[in-house]
This record gives sequence, structure tokens and C-alpha cells, in this order.
Amino acid sequence: MPEGDTIFRAATTLHRVLAGKEVTRFESVYPALTRVADDRPIVGRTIESVSAHGKHLLMAFSGDLILRTHMRMNGSWHIYPAGARWQRPAHEMRVLVGTREAVAVGFNVPVAELLTARALARHRQLRALGPDLLSGAGASRSGEPFDRLEVIRRLRTWRSDTIGDALLNQRVVAGIGNVFKSEILFVARIDPFAPVSSLSDAELDRLVAVARELLAANVMSRSQTLSPAIGRRTTRSLDPREKLWVYGRDGRRCRRCGAPIHSKKAGLDARLTYWCPACQPPHPQ
Ligand SMILES: [Zn+2]
Repeated sequence: MPEGDTIFRAATTLHRVLAGKEVTRFESVYPALTRVADDRPIVGRTIESVSAHGKHLLMAFSGDLILRTHMRMNGSWHIYPAGARWQRPAHEMRVLVGTREAVAVGFNVPVAELLTARALARHRQLRALGPDLLSGAGASRSGEPFDRLEVIRRLRTWRSDTIGDALLNQRVVAGIGNVFKSEILFVARIDPFAPVSSLSDAELDRLVAVARELLAANVMSRSQTLSPAIGRRTTRSLDPREKLWVYGRDGRRCRRCGAPIHSKKAGLDARLTYWCPACQPPHPQ
């Protein structure tokens, strides 16, 4: 699943290439989009901005129309020079926005709609999103300072959930996927299976600080590729084989203490959690 930093980088790159440019081509396989575009043509409008909000990517056009897309598990945005060969088959194209110089293609993007700014402000899913971990970092939609206390307040409302599940809940905080979940908990030395209610405010505060640090570091340090899961790193190592602390490393030695890393399927979607039982011992309840 694309994580907040992936969407954020996609938005940053699309914004850099497309902002201020006139749309010369708009296509979609979704009738709901083409119907709106028939009534209120996208071609001829200027792309004003591309921004990320959690896992939503928002492309704003002049004349009060916004394209909202959500990547879910497999969606991605690519950008190509006009006329260049795509890296994905054409039948995976769901929505396409072209300018004279470039073409942005949303491949397998399962959610796409055109909205006015007013409708967007009332949007149920966007309103329900917790604070964006990357807010205040440029391409974030909100542009508001990050509200750490609000995240802790939201975490507390899911007190019987494990902290691992609560971190994945986009209504608590927007932007964390399964890779970062395991990495954040390792760096903060917190047992992924501890119920939220067993953690102190100080522990939650440290956890949120670590989460923001790791996501922000990934936004700043990585190249401008748009495909997910390339080069994500949480360790400071420059060796590409040592990019992550625990994710995907079950049975291998902990980079901090040498104990074997464990993994377990847990939570609603039975997603894998990786942790070091020595660095992250069971939390006193
Ligand atoms: Zn360890």
C-alpha cells in the first residue's frame, strides 16, 4: 500500500511539472469523470496545484474544479514527457491529464472524482482524516502546523485497539502504512501489540514525534520517483541492504541488539507486523 510519503512525493513532483500549465488533454475510463468533463471541460483550464492530504491526491484546476484521487492498494501516478513510452500498460490507465510538455497518468487509481472546492471541504472521508503527519511540509493540502496533541486525543479514543492498529487508522493520523508502522514502533521501542490504553501520554507523544521524523526524512531524502516502495529507508545507513530496521526481516538479527526479528499477522486485514521482542518487550498492562 502506498504510504503517506509516497503520495506526498507524487504530489510534489506533479506540482513541480504541471502547476501553471494549461491542460491540453484529459481522459478517463470512469464515466462519472468524463460526464463532469463533458459539462465543464478540463481542457483549456490551468492546473493550479497538486497536493497531498493523507493518501488523497488533489489536483486543482482553474475555475473551481478539483480532481481527487485515492491510491488504495495498487494505484499510482506517473509523469512522462509528452510522447514518451509509458512504463505501465495502457489498459491500466484510469485518468490522464496532459499538457503540451508532459502527461500525468493515474494507473489503477480506484477512486477518482471531480469536485468543487465547496464539495471538497464537505467531503466525508477528507473531513474524517486525522492530522496529516506531513502537514507544514510543503505539498500538504492543509498547510496547517501539525497538531500532535490532536493525534494523541484521537489515539485515546481507540483505547482498546493495539497501538499497531491505531497507527494504521487514518482517522487517527493520516499517512502511515504498514512498512512505517513497524519501523516507527521499533524506533520508539514500543510493543506493537500493546493496547493504546496501556501507553502513557509521554510514550504516545514520543511515538508521534518519531512517526513525523521518519516520514519527513523520506520525503526530503528520496529521488523524485513516483512508484511506491522504492528506496524507503528508516535507518541512517547508506548501504541499500540496510534500509529498514525490522520490516521484512523476520528471523534475521536485530540491527540494534542482535536478537531475531519476529513477525505476526494481526489486525483486521491480517497485515504483517515485524518487531524485535528484545528491543520492544511486552508492555506492562
Ligand atoms: Zn533488538
